[in-house]
Amino acid sequence: MNVLVINCGSSSLKYQLINSDSEEVLAKGLCERIGIDGRLVYQKQGAAKEETEAAMPTHREAIQMVLDALTNKETGAIASLKEVEAVGHRIVHGGEKFTKSVIINDEVIKTVEECNELAPLHNPANLIGIRVCMELMPGVPQVAVFDTAFHQTMPAKAYLYGLPIEYYKNYKVRRYGFHGTSHSFVSKEIVSFLGLDPDSSKVIVCHLGNGSSISAVCGGKCVDTTMGLTPLEGVVMGTRSGNIDPAIVEYVAKKENLDISGIMNVLNKKSGLQGLSGVSSDMRDLEAAADAGNEDAKNAIEVLCYGIAKFVGGYVAAMNGVDAIAFTAGIGENDGRVRKTVCSYLGYLGIAIDDEANAKRGENMVISTADSKVKVCVIPTNEELAICRDTVALVG
Ligand code: AMP
Repeated sequence: MNVLVINCGSSSLKYQLINSDSEEVLAKGLCERIGIDGRLVYQKQGAAKEETEAAMPTHREAIQMVLDALTNKETGAIASLKEVEAVGHRIVHGGEKFTKSVIINDEVIKTVEECNELAPLHNPANLIGIRVCMELMPGVPQVAVFDTAFHQTMPAKAYLYGLPIEYYKNYKVRRYGFHGTSHSFVSKEIVSFLGLDPDSSKVIVCHLGNGSSISAVCGGKCVDTTMGLTPLEGVVMGTRSGNIDPAIVEYVAKKENLDISGIMNVLNKKSGLQGLSGVSSDMRDLEAAADAGNEDAKNAIEVLCYGIAKFVGGYVAAMNGVDAIAFTAGIGENDGRVRKTVCSYLGYLGIAIDDEANAKRGENMVISTADSKVKVCVIPTNEELAICRDTVALVG
């Protein structure tokens, strides 16, 4: 079955056409600057990337261009739209309403809309993608896959904040967690890769990218994760602060004469690795600066690694043990130095890293030594494939 995976942002849209039988990516790309001017990137399997500048006033034109590119007589990956048998949509926030992926119908759309308040930048864009695909591909089943769903198994002790309980009861203020598709995919991969018992294994997934989150997964179920009501909580990220003392908000607001949205802008866009280093949000730039002697860049990397190690230690306590730790996403998959530094704090667990294995890249691999008490692995994430698999499981 061919599944079109759509990840719709407010002014961009990523897509992949996947053959679910072979799990090959037949074509992929993105639309950028929707509503501004518009640019389509399209790459058919085995061919070079094509870039086309074209007006995309709304997501409708963007998705139409993707469908035209996919069915283009010369460069298309398929002969006609009939070959798209299902569409899988990434939805950022499913609140407490969605604990797993679902086939989209009017009721589902209404319920996703009710979650808009919890993700005002993302959910409305996701919904536009759904509506346009339903219009342009009538009769093709559409599936919603939620970033939050995998974390819905967390117990109350992990998802409640120390706030008046009415805020949870009336406004649903609680930890939701994000990157759920990745945490679900990677936790399953590491269990099968290492041959662990799916029902009793204790796994920690470190998804470290521009946005980062860590999760504790016990017997295949998420028991805790670092992101919260929003993706701002947890470890230091590219430009997001992660955890801070909430009183800093008032203190800095007064000093800098900022209102709530001004402060939120600082916490989301000007903090994290970027804010700490003053150099960049990109780990490659930070490491180059640190190697050249930049103390702020060195500290930024240390803050990140130390913070990750503290969460990992906390999750070992939460699960009363750990069998394996997975590193994934841009930093987790590619940055052996970060992995090594994080694991240097975990010697008390009997963890030892094999430097030669840790220097390799690209596929599932064990980077701990043969006698390490806990297996440490690199497991490349693949959120699009996870969305494709969920879609097929529901409509196949
Ligand atoms: P993601 O959000 O998963 O795409 O990850 C983006 C992050 O991964 C950025 O901080 C990149 O600097 C980082 N990254 C990508 N490739 C490498 C690499 N080879 N070494 C270190 N960091 C990398």
